[in-house]
Amino acid sequence: MGFRYPKGVRFECQRCARCCGDVLRKKRKILLLEAEVKQIARVTELRQEGFAIPLSGNSPYRYAMKKKGGKCVFLERSACKIYPIRPLICRTYPFSLERASSGHVFKASDDCPGIGLGDVVREEEFRRMFGEVRAALG
Ligand code: SF4
Ligand code: SF4
Repeated sequence: MGFRYPKGVRFECQRCARCCGDVLRKKRKILLLEAEVKQIARVTELRQEGFAIPLSGNSPYRYAMKKKGGKCVFLERSACKIYPIRPLICRTYPFSLERASSGHVFKASDDCPGIGLGDVVREEEFRRMFGEVRAALG
């Protein structure tokens, strides 16, 4: 199955951590799959109630990450404490894959100051993210 993506879009992460919490005009919902909650609980040895809030109506996502002071509970200064096992939506950010009538399409976030900077994001990178999303969501 194919996908479309924003051609010619540039991106270079500015390590500002805006994507790890609420910003002025938007509350960030950090969605989690059940498998991700289990993996994070196992690796961190935390109870899932300590970091995940059950959700309904966001299938296939079953939880949202807890936030403290508007920031993800795993954000420490500007670094992710669970980086190697961070959730799928954090892995593809600032892009998200959406379902459209004509297939799947990657959208770029308009909240990320890294969009428009650095090198053009190549098709291979979108292909890699697409594979990662499909592997996680089936
Ligand atoms: S908001 Fe964008 S630039 Fe800032 S840390 Fe997240 S991905 Fe990087
Ligand atoms: S899990 Fe890590 S990358 Fe994702 S929002 Fe939390 S601190 Fe940021």
